[in-house]
Amino acid sequence: MKWAAGILLMAAWITPSDAAAPEDLAAYQALAQQDLRLATIGYRLAQANAPFCDRKTLSPGWVLHDEAQYPDKGLAKTAFVFRSPVAISSVVTGGAAAQRGLQAGDGIAAVDGIDVTGPNVVKKGRARARVEKIQTLLADAFAKSGAAVVSMKTAAGPKDVKLQPPAMCSSQFWVDTKTKLDAGADGVFVRVTEGLMTFTALDDAELAAVVAHEMSHNLLGHRDRLAVSGRAKKHVLATEIEADRLSVWLMQNAGYDPVAAVRFIERYGRKTGLGIFSDGTHLRWRNRQMLMQAEIVGMMQTDARNGPRSPPLLHPSN
Ligand SMILES: [Zn+2]
Repeated sequence: MKWAAGILLMAAWITPSDAAAPEDLAAYQALAQQDLRLATIGYRLAQANAPFCDRKTLSPGWVLHDEAQYPDKGLAKTAFVFRSPVAISSVVTGGAAAQRGLQAGDGIAAVDGIDVTGPNVVKKGRARARVEKIQTLLADAFAKSGAAVVSMKTAAGPKDVKLQPPAMCSSQFWVDTKTKLDAGADGVFVRVTEGLMTFTALDDAELAAVVAHEMSHNLLGHRDRLAVSGRAKKHVLATEIEADRLSVWLMQNAGYDPVAAVRFIERYGRKTGLGIFSDGTHLRWRNRQMLMQAEIVGMMQTDARNGPRSPPLLHPSN
């Protein structure tokens, strides 16, 4: 079993260079809501499919943010509670942090006794530095012992909390503040734009279809594979077909109706005229629908008496 280095669900990063940086309080809060929505769907997919993933991570099930990541720090402190410079933006229901009673606004003061509040861990111009430091400390602790003691500042005062999260499929998630309908996977992160989150606002299962597709690219190591094979269209297309096929298994195991993927690809296809990527490397949406429908039919014929269904693509030798 390999343990990936990164392990947390992260907040969207707002940098001054982002053209669509939120300008008011409501926009800050709306973005935090989007972070939670994406984190919750990602967590559910990653946890439900844990038995089938070789690459696993331990995730506390929280979204962290640093007051320094917002262009207007004063406004951020009005929009959110920061009991430390880095605080919990939101917790995923049922996650390890929620189970220990942690809440939005609770601040992180130290990880295994190492202070994370001081300016010493903040490099100039790098708003993510403190959150990255916390992630690294937690990743090291989880890799070593499967647990970490986090010193929190809560509404009831300082509190040391031992986090011992369950292992789940490795992936991290972030909301990209662009309006374009787009998503991506880079081997570790799953990125979904605010535009695509709005496009799927009425249906979490449709957003789960997007996340499951991108997560499939990461779980199948497509980035590494393409680095070896080259990005000729036939190679990219092969990875896209695999991601479409695996996505419906991940959805089914997490309790999302896999047919939502079929529905999404039609709405998305009609809206954009192309696939998630518009470079001709994806099947046309009708072909993607047929591929996923066939996969769903095959999947539903597999044995589910022992719990989740084992996706053949994750265990080709079985
Ligand atoms: Zn793809």
